[in-house]
Amino acid sequence: MTLLVVGSVALDSVKTPFGEAREVLGGAATYFSVAASYYTSVSMIAVVGTDFPKTHIDFLKSQNIEIDGLEIREGKTFRWAGAYGYDLNERDTIDTSLNVFENFNPKLLEKHKESEYVFLANIDPVLQHSVINQVESPRFCALDTMNFWIDNKNSELKKTISEVDAFVLNDSECRHLAEEPNLIKAARKIIEMGPRILVVKKGEHGALLFTKENVFSAPAFPIEDVFDPTGAGDSFAGGFMGHIAKTGDITEENMRRAILYGTVMASFCVEKFSVEGMVNIGEKEIEERFSMLREMVNFGSEN
Ligand code: AMP
Repeated sequence: MTLLVVGSVALDSVKTPFGEAREVLGGAATYFSVAASYYTSVSMIAVVGTDFPKTHIDFLKSQNIEIDGLEIREGKTFRWAGAYGYDLNERDTIDTSLNVFENFNPKLLEKHKESEYVFLANIDPVLQHSVINQVESPRFCALDTMNFWIDNKNSELKKTISEVDAFVLNDSECRHLAEEPNLIKAARKIIEMGPRILVVKKGEHGALLFTKENVFSAPAFPIEDVFDPTGAGDSFAGGFMGHIAKTGDITEENMRRAILYGTVMASFCVEKFSVEGMVNIGEKEIEERFSMLREMVNFGSEN
């Protein structure tokens, strides 16, 4: 079933203690789409400049990502630069040059308006809301954001949050949005804002899924050689939404499995720069990591 994503496509420059990459393919919509493409057909709505390399367009197409909604506008592609120290959970943003992304105003093609599954990656909540309004009758719509929007478009963000089924954000953003230091209380406050499902990502410490009644916890997949964490959150969201769209099952039980698939895709992502870690993954490798995650939380039956 078709999954639509709206978000950034970027040229990223990243420095980690293990190496450096310059102007490589990045952006939230890119990581999301590549991860989700292993589960279902994905359509991407984004904007790039005329400098965007054709090799990247060819790559996206080779992953079966439908890019009729990727606008190529006169000007430069969005660029982002970041650096990590030995604690890979912390990163410094060195540069954000919005370029053509500054005037991004997502306009859905007729075929995209019929999408059943929608992911609103981290963009201005006003634009995210405009996408919700353009999709005719989405079955399941999820949202991501960042601290910048929590600080600068708080009421607009809350309006958008109130209209989605699921909200995916990291633990510090969760505390910040709820203005509440305790993560459990913060999650409760956000659930009160409207979404049925809240997914809180905790980097190498895994992810939590909250509903009004329940909490589910998934560990991160143990990776010994984390090379570059950029895009891990978006790849997680891609695996999560990809599994939901593939199965068409929006029960809480299936959301739990979706969290594990999200975790698996993030684990591939962090092993290399850019989307390299997610190129040519076999179904067998995905299922092996899924089974290992399951084993990690298996404590046998009571005797
Ligand atoms: P993550 O590590 O999952 O938070 O995602 C990082 C990706 O988000 C990078 O590839 C960046 O190009 C992209 N990104 C960084 N800042 C922004 C921003 N302000 N708006 C949209 N995308 C961004």
